[in-house]
Amino acid sequence: MHELSIVASLFEILEEKAEEQKAKRIVGVKLQVGALSGVVPEFLETAFNIYKKETLADKARLEIEKVPLKIQCQKCHTEMVKDDFVFICENCGSRELETLGGTELLLEKIEMEVS
Ligand SMILES: [Zn+2]
Repeated sequence: MHELSIVASLFEILEEKAEEQKAKRIVGVKLQVGALSGVVPEFLETAFNIYKKETLADKARLEIEKVPLKIQCQKCHTEMVKDDFVFICENCGSRELETLGGTELLLEKIEMEVS
């Protein structure tokens, strides 16, 4: 489960940020997870909840924003959002498609308690 190693590096960042801000506690974390990022949001959440115990984030709420796969046809330039993985242009049937979004795995927001 490579979500565990992702969460491990996430916590390194969280601890660093908390130290920078002299925060006592991390109360919320928001991640953006793309449909093509290779990460399963449910696994990520489970790993987060295991990992957070005995850290500054032990009460933190994890919010995951799922980013859909967005592609653009290189022939007719139609942009489309896919919830399946059928890589054919809906407009012209071309298979020359470019990925515009959906591969990201981003730490979007950290909520901290400072005093
Ligand atoms: Zn097209």
